[in-house]
Amino acid sequence: MRHPLIAGNWKMHGLRAHAQRLAAEVASGVPAPQAVEVAICPPFVHLADAAASLAGSAVALGAQNVAPEAEGAHTGEVSAAMLADVGCRFVIVGHSERRQHYGDDDALVARRFRQAREAGLVPILCVGETLAEREADATATVVARQVDAVFAAVGANGFGDAVIAYEPVWAIGTGRTATPEQAQTVHAALRDRLAGHLGEAAAGVRLLYGGSMKPDNAAALLSMPDVDGGLIGGASLKAEDFLAICRAA
Ligand code: PGA
Repeated sequence: MRHPLIAGNWKMHGLRAHAQRLAAEVASGVPAPQAVEVAICPPFVHLADAAASLAGSAVALGAQNVAPEAEGAHTGEVSAAMLADVGCRFVIVGHSERRQHYGDDDALVARRFRQAREAGLVPILCVGETLAEREADATATVVARQVDAVFAAVGANGFGDAVIAYEPVWAIGTGRTATPEQAQTVHAALRDRLAGHLGEAAAGVRLLYGGSMKPDNAAALLSMPDVDGGLIGGASLKAEDFLAICRAA
């Protein structure tokens, strides 16, 4: 019922030639769109090049962040309308690297989410606990708070077809992956929380797992009933690895 989604988060890697080549390789190797939806999220400056490389393919384009305002005197920011205009369908909001290092708190993430939705983009809302929070048994509380903050800002109607990515901070870029069971437990809790906001529509929301997902662990994670795809960092920078994960979905 839920169409799996594999999204590559390139983070701040690669120059233009790399972005063009990687996008083209993903476009030419991607599995049939009925099997899995695939997106890549290059840095802002590479979006137009990546869009050109993806033209005519089934691979969607996404950005890694979006301004919390619609337009105006906001030096250095990139608006949701600009992202839609350059060909983006998705945008990541609230990635833990932004929450940890760039001051993206729940309220700011909710403003970014709202802008994305108003421009017709599909937000990929990242949530997840730190190691200290997991060890304090606070995982469910933390991800619930992160989800609730968005609903408080946009309401159930404003959530639309948004996607949630559960990314335990301790698993990102560390080579340490949540076990399939750990991921499923949190995904089930997230779906319960979503049901409180959305009712039956919660069953249709795609919940991605992110955090050191690789070709060799993807199939097990993706076999969990509430793991509907992946948000892939490191392994999205090599077409071969990324496409292997797409085929596992
Ligand atoms: P990783 O990153 O796959 O390199 O752990 C995932 C992410 O941060 O989205």
